[in-house]
Amino acid sequence: MAVDFDGTIANNAFPNITKAGLVPNIKTRLVNIEQYILEHGFNPIFVLWTCRSNNELGNFLDEAVQYCKNNEIHFDYINESPQHPMFKNIKVENPSPKIHADVYIDDKALNFYGDYRFIDYLEEYIKNEK
Ligand SMILES: [Mg+2]
Repeated sequence: MAVDFDGTIANNAFPNITKAGLVPNIKTRLVNIEQYILEHGFNPIFVLWTCRSNNELGNFLDEAVQYCKNNEIHFDYINESPQHPMFKNIKVENPSPKIHADVYIDDKALNFYGDYRFIDYLEEYIKNEK
């Protein structure tokens, strides 16, 4: 389960997390998702999946990680996938930067159903941005 940070866990106010505040009900929703997965016999693994990084402009990633800890939102991995069982014993020099997950939760996400229905959403988004 890959979960985005800005706009998904904290309201969008990058980089000012303190000002942003938690997205309403996000903690309950994540707990409910975890519970649902457990009840269906799977072991949920949560990955914080964010563009934030630590760089010369700030420790944006560390701030997000700390923010999650302070709000008791647990992650098993930070911007890193658990190793796929198929490749468990194989060392890969350049693993893909894309997080591997069965489910992605992201405020910018669109579900792809194979028929590009999301074009309707894009048209609406562009109209509202103008
Ligand atoms: Mg986001």
